[in-house]
Amino acid sequence: MEDNVFSFFSEYYDSIQDPVCIFDNEGFVAYCNEAFSALTGTSQIRFLNKKTTVFNSFISIDDKAFDLTRTEEFCGFTGVSILKFETKKVLRGLGQFAIRKLALPPHENLFHLTLKDLTVEEDLVKTFRFELASRNKKIDEMNQLVEIFQKIRLLDEPSLIVNEFMNYQLSFSQFYAAAKRVNQTMSIIHGEEYNAAPAFVEVMKEVEGYLAANVVSKYQTQKSSVKNGDSHYYWSVVPFKLANDNMHAIFIFDSLEQLNKFSHQSAIILSEQLNLILNNLTLKELSYTDGLTKLKNNLYFRKKIEEVCSASQTAQLILFDVDFFKKVNDTYGHPGGDAVLMFLGEKIPAVMQKVNPDFAAATIARVGGEEFAIVIPDKEQDFAQMFAEAFRAEIEASTVMFNEIAIKFTVSLGVSSWTPKHSFSPEAVKLLYKAADDALYNSKRSGRNRVSVLNAA
Ligand code: GH3
Ligand code: MG
Ligand code: MG
Repeated sequence: MEDNVFSFFSEYYDSIQDPVCIFDNEGFVAYCNEAFSALTGTSQIRFLNKKTTVFNSFISIDDKAFDLTRTEEFCGFTGVSILKFETKKVLRGLGQFAIRKLALPPHENLFHLTLKDLTVEEDLVKTFRFELASRNKKIDEMNQLVEIFQKIRLLDEPSLIVNEFMNYQLSFSQFYAAAKRVNQTMSIIHGEEYNAAPAFVEVMKEVEGYLAANVVSKYQTQKSSVKNGDSHYYWSVVPFKLANDNMHAIFIFDSLEQLNKFSHQSAIILSEQLNLILNNLTLKELSYTDGLTKLKNNLYFRKKIEEVCSASQTAQLILFDVDFFKKVNDTYGHPGGDAVLMFLGEKIPAVMQKVNPDFAAATIARVGGEEFAIVIPDKEQDFAQMFAEAFRAEIEASTVMFNEIAIKFTVSLGVSSWTPKHSFSPEAVKLLYKAADDALYNSKRSGRNRVSVLNAA
């Protein structure tokens, strides 16, 4: 591959902190940045001299070898796909992979891999293992725990930590049923099949009443007043605390015998550890707000769009990306670029409010560097097109003042609709997102500063 491919991508990706690699259909690397070399433990020179391929640089991705067929499979993903991986340098990696086919004449067969490395720092894992070892945990158990630990950062919804905790207990302990209570709402996690059993309903009610009346900040076990033959039901409550969320895991046992067999010690140790980690997570990591624009962040948006599509027959998705934003940064510096982003943080809701009386129903998020997404429930496509066009025109006519310099810029938009013919599944939502993303790409390709519409089948 020629040098110009390398220098072309160098300009874009040398300074990016996330690993990036451009490779062909044989896995030969046309470009990779330093972050990618560091992740894979292979130097840029080695890659570029074709001493090895990108396929060989991953020992496994999602427990399977990496090859061209998998590359093509990954190209089909949109949105967030968090996979396990192993390289020479990273033993238990966890990352968000995005692979795209690049149509970059004359190279029609180049792929673009970016990775958000979510592997928990080895130091943290070591400390955690040490802590567990000092409490006589077995290796297998430790590995499982480390896995839970790694997952915490990735959970879209922090309360899912309670589910992880229960699944872990379930792998070696027996209980009749389990439930969680997150900010006053109880839900059953294991044992739905007993849902209709009068005794179970009664026990759940009792637990709910108890938790409503008492602050449970320590592991506790209670004998239920509900009888089960000669014996009684029992339950234990494990508290989790995360910022403003109060969460409890609840285990229900159908006899004293089952209660006694349960590994209470393990539940206590693990919940203490998890609480410690939850405590240490910075609020920023857990919050759903983007610091710069004060809009919602990508994490929140991914969650919200699923919620909207599962609850609404009709919804509109609008994605947009600032045109030639690199130039803005190059001309006015990064702070100049940031000023544009902050301006958008105010402008999008303002335009939305102007054209949409129920603007509060719309979710507006910054989903990437200079990429934004809006989902509007219960609106038809013509509304989305009208909004997108109004917004495009508004931005074209606007100037952002930065250090007394007027910055002009434009945006490209993509619109896609969720309609009654779509039936909800996470995959269907991904296809919706992909359609809007492809529409946005069409806007870019056909000259920028425009709106395109594309609907998923
Ligand atoms: P295109 O019209 O094709 O979108 O061109 P572009 O230059 O906007 O290209 P692209 O979307 O790839 O560029 C994104 C740039 O945004 C790259 C990155 O340096 C910059 N960026 C990402 N996050 C931030 C940020 O928080 N602040 C600033 N100032 N720049 C950012
Ligand atoms: Mg972009
Ligand atoms: Mg851009």
